[in-house]
Amino acid sequence: MSVLWTARALCLGAVALSLVAELLVRLLRRLRPAGTLNEVLFFPSEVVCVQHLFSSLPACPCICPLRHGPETSLSRLLRHVMSASSSLDLCIFAFSNANLCRAVLAVHAKGVTVRVLTDKDYAAITGSQIGVLRKAGICARCDSSSVHMHHKFALVDGRLLLTGSLNWTLTGVQSNMENVLVTEEPDLVRPFVEEFHRLWE
Ligand SMILES: [Zn+2]
Ligand SMILES: [Zn+2]
Repeated sequence: MSVLWTARALCLGAVALSLVAELLVRLLRRLRPAGTLNEVLFFPSEVVCVQHLFSSLPACPCICPLRHGPETSLSRLLRHVMSASSSLDLCIFAFSNANLCRAVLAVHAKGVTVRVLTDKDYAAITGSQIGVLRKAGICARCDSSSVHMHHKFALVDGRLLLTGSLNWTLTGVQSNMENVLVTEEPDLVRPFVEEFHRLWE
């Protein structure tokens, strides 16, 4: 009898322990670093002036006819790109958007290491900003494989991932229905960092 009771007690103890362990795992999963950034941007973006994003002046000095002030998907994207403080890795199929080019140039000008990987066929197209980036001294490589380098992602400081359907073109930003996911989730960022390194080598 006592052997049976001991066995039962042990069994219950094991069940209780595994339940506690399961609970702890669930709790730990919920405890992510405070302020982990997750954001979704949809395009087309409303056409507004983004001049102030490139200016260090507190008030927007621009007198162009576009609307001034409202935050849009493009302004959010530009802000994320320009938040880079150590590195900016771009893996973009088509890069012809002048505002995004300006943002990358601004990031490069403040001493951030910028690497650009793009598709060789699109880079040769009129309007591509790859030549402009190279002229500024930014290292831009064209993927040499026989298939398209069709990725559209950016890594800010190896910590923030911007990825989605959006090519960095005027049509992509102003006309098409596109999406960009912005995330700091390490489990999502890590594979993109590895993919960039794999393609860059
Ligand atoms: Zn403005
Ligand atoms: Zn303006």
